[in-house]
Amino acid sequence: MLTFDEAVARLVAAGRRESVNLASKPIPVIQALGRVLAKPLESTVDVPPRANSAMDGYAFRYADAVAANFQLPISQRIPAGRAPQLLQAGTAARIFTGAELPEGADTVAMQEDCQATADAVTIDASQVQQGDNVRPQGQDITAGTVILEAGKKLRPQELGLLFSIGEAMVDVYRPLRVAILSTGDELVEPGRALAPGQIYNSNRATLHGMLAAWGMEIVDLGIVRDEPDIIEAVLLAAAAQADMVVTSGGVSVGEEDHVKAVVEKLGNLEFWKIAIKPGKPLAFGHIGTTPFMGLPGNPASTFVTACLFLRPFLLSMQGMEQVLPRSSRERSRFSKSAVKRQEFLRARRTATGVETFANQSSGVLSSACWGDGLVVQFAGQSIESGDGVEFFPYAEFF
Ligand code: AMP
Ligand code: MG
Repeated sequence: MLTFDEAVARLVAAGRRESVNLASKPIPVIQALGRVLAKPLESTVDVPPRANSAMDGYAFRYADAVAANFQLPISQRIPAGRAPQLLQAGTAARIFTGAELPEGADTVAMQEDCQATADAVTIDASQVQQGDNVRPQGQDITAGTVILEAGKKLRPQELGLLFSIGEAMVDVYRPLRVAILSTGDELVEPGRALAPGQIYNSNRATLHGMLAAWGMEIVDLGIVRDEPDIIEAVLLAAAAQADMVVTSGGVSVGEEDHVKAVVEKLGNLEFWKIAIKPGKPLAFGHIGTTPFMGLPGNPASTFVTACLFLRPFLLSMQGMEQVLPRSSRERSRFSKSAVKRQEFLRARRTATGVETFANQSSGVLSSACWGDGLVVQFAGQSIESGDGVEFFPYAEFF
């Protein structure tokens, strides 16, 4: 059996290998939310382009103010957006927040610390030091520096940063196309009544939601019957039109579990037993040259293994650098005796610590909806109420 860390490390490495030839193209920044930067981005400009005022007030040369006992005539008025004149020696400029500092000024006194008439200002010297309230040129970004590294997923603030250096277009990787299909003769789509023996296909919606949250394009192939010929045909079609194929169900060792054998025939298969709960079996390989992952069918297992294994693989394949979720340390509000396999317990944080859902069965999807993250119980670790435990918030996964 692989450890959890070994399995994740293998998947990240495999994803990186797949990403080598990923195409990229420039798209408008305004449409690039959630996309992955394909090249490091170097600024050609300073932000701000010139020193400007951080306050509404009066701009002056500090030495001039000292010489004039902090009483200066006002020689110009500079609202934001207006080009300033060179500051006449021995004078102050009326200035507003965001307005460019006139050459010759080095300090801004905020208006609350000034008494002004129409043409002169008296500054409260005790309230102002040389250089106050000036935002220097390049304080945010200096020309020639790399402001975003390749592999960065663009969030709203990065879109803003791109606009701040005047970039309207950005080079991003194209989104991956991921085909999903659910195997199982018992599965039915919502909207139809259940016949005896049938259940609704919940994994399809779970996977759909995850892939959408990860910015993937989804090729949704619905339900596939537990019939080797049909599975083969659908997997081939899936591999032909997608960058990756993800299945749920049919990868255990039962007689009706055909996915493994079919993938082996169509490409290569590594079948991993990972020392975790839920979700011990994980099939990984290729259909032709298209990467394939077979997730266990139990709904809570599908959910947890997609979070823990599919996500880092797909994101590294998508060219992303940061693919591992960050955990936090929480105080346990439960006790649990030691286990053999590392467990990912569906849990929730409260003001006083983290508690777990009562039924941790891999068939109970409510366990994942009740809470807001996964508590790790390591193999051999017994947890006492009050102990520190590792917690992965779901927010780290979507
Ligand atoms: P399997 O991995 O195919 O042996 O399925 C394991 C368990 O998960 C069985 O109880 C299946 O009925 C259930 N299951 C498999 N696929 C799905 C699905 N798409 N939605 C809901 N339950 C499923
Ligand atoms: Mg099945």
